[in-house]
Amino acid sequence: MGPFKIVVCVKAVPDPKKGSPSFDPVTKTVRRAAQDLVMNLLDRHAVEEALRIRGGFGGKVTVVSMGPPEAMPVLKESLALGVDRAVLLSDRAFAGADTLATSKTLALGIRKLGQFDLVLAGSESSDGATGQVGPQLAEILGIPFVPKAVKIELYNGAKPGPSSIDHTECGEGVFAMVTGEVECGLREYRVRLPALFTVSRKINEPKGVTMMGILGSRGKEVEVLGAADIGASPGEVGAKGSPTLIRAVEGPPPGRQGEIISGDPDEAVRALVEKLRAKGVLV
Ligand SMILES: Cc1cc2nc3c(=O)[nH]c(=O)nc-3n(C[C@H](O)[C@H](O)[C@H](O)COP(=O)(O)OP(=O)(O)OC[C@H]3O[C@@H](n4cnc5c(N)ncnc54)[C@H](O)[C@@H]3O)c2cc1C
Repeated sequence: MGPFKIVVCVKAVPDPKKGSPSFDPVTKTVRRAAQDLVMNLLDRHAVEEALRIRGGFGGKVTVVSMGPPEAMPVLKESLALGVDRAVLLSDRAFAGADTLATSKTLALGIRKLGQFDLVLAGSESSDGATGQVGPQLAEILGIPFVPKAVKIELYNGAKPGPSSIDHTECGEGVFAMVTGEVECGLREYRVRLPALFTVSRKINEPKGVTMMGILGSRGKEVEVLGAADIGASPGEVGAKGSPTLIRAVEGPPPGRQGEIISGDPDEAVRALVEKLRAKGVLV
């Protein structure tokens, strides 16, 4: 067995701090090229978790993203965060992808990189926000899937984990004990790797880029792979490979504005209560 390999899927999204993304009225897709792209927030947590796992378990972390050339700074940032390899899947043929075509492209890209043990992704993006890519990608790769992980622990073979579950029948291989969020609480899974987990923001506190990280990533290049490089046929990726057609997109309704009530805290609370009463929120 070679070194333990973790792949993290990272999406470059329009900066949520700069308001709602703008859409192309004809293609109904986000105008990614026209906006400042940043790493999807949940994907930061996924990268952090991969680095934490590498710290304890060893191995290599590779970040993979499908996006336009403008996504390059996000890949460079992931190198500065400390990942070993960053790959941008970028080709005009990938444009207009729905979640299925995105998942197929990511799967082809990941397979192209060779053997892998663990794939991590965010549980949803801040723009498309369908939450479909993680489970679809796991299905295409033919590996188990756990959503919204808040805790991941890896161990070799039949070594008992921290839970009350009987691990004795596990056998050989690397396993993960994963705690995932469900609507009514938490659920604990035992999974044989390779597997794909999406992460919740509760899993960790991302540390961010340091000067050491920037200096350490100098000389590391982002690899760019196109459709031909990953063996994608024209009909299975991009708009042509997308069974979903978006009929319409709308931004949030205009006119919603925040109001800051400043001044003496007691007065401010009284003013807030009055305003809420006037609007019928409080009786
Ligand atoms: C407003 C809007 C509505 C949309 N509606 C639909 C729809 O109804 N059906 C549909 O099929 N498509 C839709 N799309 C397209 C979709 O956003 C993307 O093109 C893409 O398929 C990813 O979907 P997502 O952002 O919902 O990913 P999610 O499934 O929410 O993302 C989960 C995780 O998957 C990984 N991931 C997602 N995209 C990438 C990527 N490009 N590269 C690397 N990792 C990635 C990241 O780790 C991310 O955290 C919509 C887009 C927008 C802007």
